[in-house]
Amino acid sequence: MFDQPPAAARTNPERSFTDEVRSLRLGDGEIFRGEGVLAVTKALLQSGVAYVGGYQGAPMSHLVDVLVESQDLLDELGVHLETCTSEASAAALLGASINYPLRGCVTWKSIVGTNVAADALSNLASPGVVGGALIVVGEDYGEGASIIQERSHAFALKSSVWLMDPRPNLPTIVHCVEKGFELSEASNTPVMIELRIRACHVSGEFVAKNNVAPAISRNARLAEPIPQDYARISHPPSTYLQEKLKVDVRLPAAQRFIVEQGLNELLPGEREDLGIIVQGGIANVTLRGLDRLGLGDAFGAVKVPTLVLNVTYPLVPDQIADFCKGKRAVLVVEEGAPDYLEQEIGALLRKRDIGARLHGKDVLPMAGEYTAEVVTEGLLKFFAQTANDIDLSKPMQALETARAGRAEAQRLIGAPLPLRPPGFCTGCPERPVFSAIKLLEREVGKVHISADIGCHAFATLAPFNLGNTILGYGMSLAAAAGVAPVLQKRTISVMGDGGFWHNGLLSGVSSAMFNRGDRVLVVMQNGYTSATGAQFLPSSAGNRRDGENTSDIATTLRAMGVRWLRTIRTYNVSTMLATLREAVTTKEQGLKVIIADGECQLARQRRIRPQLAAALKRGERVIRTRYGIDDAVCTGDHSCIRLSGCPSLTIKPSPDPLRDDPIASVVNSCVGCGLCGEVADAAVLCPSFYKAEIVQNPSRWDRALTRVRTAVIGWLQGKESVAHAR
Ligand code: SF4
Ligand code: SF4
Repeated sequence: MFDQPPAAARTNPERSFTDEVRSLRLGDGEIFRGEGVLAVTKALLQSGVAYVGGYQGAPMSHLVDVLVESQDLLDELGVHLETCTSEASAAALLGASINYPLRGCVTWKSIVGTNVAADALSNLASPGVVGGALIVVGEDYGEGASIIQERSHAFALKSSVWLMDPRPNLPTIVHCVEKGFELSEASNTPVMIELRIRACHVSGEFVAKNNVAPAISRNARLAEPIPQDYARISHPPSTYLQEKLKVDVRLPAAQRFIVEQGLNELLPGEREDLGIIVQGGIANVTLRGLDRLGLGDAFGAVKVPTLVLNVTYPLVPDQIADFCKGKRAVLVVEEGAPDYLEQEIGALLRKRDIGARLHGKDVLPMAGEYTAEVVTEGLLKFFAQTANDIDLSKPMQALETARAGRAEAQRLIGAPLPLRPPGFCTGCPERPVFSAIKLLEREVGKVHISADIGCHAFATLAPFNLGNTILGYGMSLAAAAGVAPVLQKRTISVMGDGGFWHNGLLSGVSSAMFNRGDRVLVVMQNGYTSATGAQFLPSSAGNRRDGENTSDIATTLRAMGVRWLRTIRTYNVSTMLATLREAVTTKEQGLKVIIADGECQLARQRRIRPQLAAALKRGERVIRTRYGIDDAVCTGDHSCIRLSGCPSLTIKPSPDPLRDDPIASVVNSCVGCGLCGEVADAAVLCPSFYKAEIVQNPSRWDRALTRVRTAVIGWLQGKESVAHAR
């Protein structure tokens, strides 16, 4: 097993949420300050939510992470928290709201999480709900995104799940959460709230309300389950009626509620001949664009009437028609493709014979994030085509100046700046596995690597460049099933322990066993879902409830019938190389699994640093290990850097005037993981690496030893200088 974190560890080791937890207790009239995602969390508690669940993933991890640390508050209110092992199990949690008047919320990263949850969501949306059901998705789209670029909007459309896209300010976000539950109940339909990355992290304040304990809860249990109602089961013949109810009853009910509650915002402006219809989530950048053009301010005082859609599905046809009537031109600001809103609005204007000319993707890009700059350029094009009387010369000039400045900077630099790919943390336990795979490829040639979601995906980038496909979280073994039969060499699939429990166990391992797949699987057992903030998973040494380990990967694999199974400490590169070699070349058929064992270094450092600091304070002897490179020995071929990629390994000028090549150097951020020494040994590199132990609060024996060593070295150095002098 990996270096054990304390068995009693119950909290996320990444950071403590003490302030956030405190803010969840704020009551009537108090001012809440914080980020958008935390505002959602507080709004849930103010809305009388009975259960919350989710699967971690940026930008929504924070919601569940904070609730994990708020167990006392949840216990007081009777709110159940489920830390789900996948988005599918989170979505299925909402089944509680189908029959029972319970408000529930689940959360994940979209679009990937929504894809995983799709089956349960469809089966939730068909019968509909009696208790408010919210799905808060972190729309991981645009510059900071880490996944495929698609729109959750598509899912909402196809399953008839209403989609809220709140304007990114805290009062609107909180209002949408509270009204989202009501909308869900008024129309018996689940509601998805889409929060883009910037909306999750936008900071602000709102006036808090008291938290509300749900009427039915863990603290107030029902004596009997609700009687069976076949109409609420998503199974024929009920599904036929459910489809009709979606269209004939729930949709009009939702549209009525949207209008009655004023969920969409109309910002009036003096230019009645023009109009802008914008998704709520893009409203801030649109207002900023109008501000730059001198047609408004960033707070919503606009000169061009603007309809802010805090609900982007369903649209309310009468509301859109009323807004567009009498206008010469309307611009739809809709991020991403396809242009669902623009198409629907275009069809609506045509059907109702409304003459406003429709603009959108003709002046704005079809794909990519709508930053303030992108939207401002689109607005400029729109007004240039539709309003000759608006003087745009100053903003045009400002735009040209900015472009010229950028071009000049590029000219001065002389070449595009080198890209700086993201990579593993210093001392990451996953890096040595890829060093070993590179060494393996030196022996056996290129191997097809099926990569996966998680920190190990960094290996697809330089300096490893290992990985041919990524098909989804926990899908790497399944993704090699079609490749393996046509290759002479075995494929290697790499999967994290997070991916293993999320989907890899069933989609990958059971399918490979069932089909007698002859492949190699490396499971990175680092102990957490590290890439999403180091949350616990079933095989973690800790558990949020009782500090106990719940499941074990090796035991599970054996129970599945895996016979060829090795657990190797990741930092032991020679053993890892030998094991990989055996896995790839053995005559034994069937699935071969290597559990690469090593605790996430980021989590480990966060765990041990306070312990070391406390030990130092108590005056105890503490040893820190560091690696270094002997300047006089390094030849400057940098194979160590190419085989490791550790950020603590860099280059510096050679002290030898006869050598031009810079030499390798280890900087102070080295955590002494030992990979440098291991790689140098396994790859038979130059002997320039040395290991140093820094002893703090040394004992008498340490001091005596140092005196002896110093004397011997001094004596040898003295002899050497005499020899040189002769
Ligand atoms: S978070 Fe942990 S597993 Fe991920 S790259 Fe950093 S050390 Fe490695
Ligand atoms: S020992 Fe080498 S690989 Fe490990 S942290 Fe130090 S420089 Fe990086």
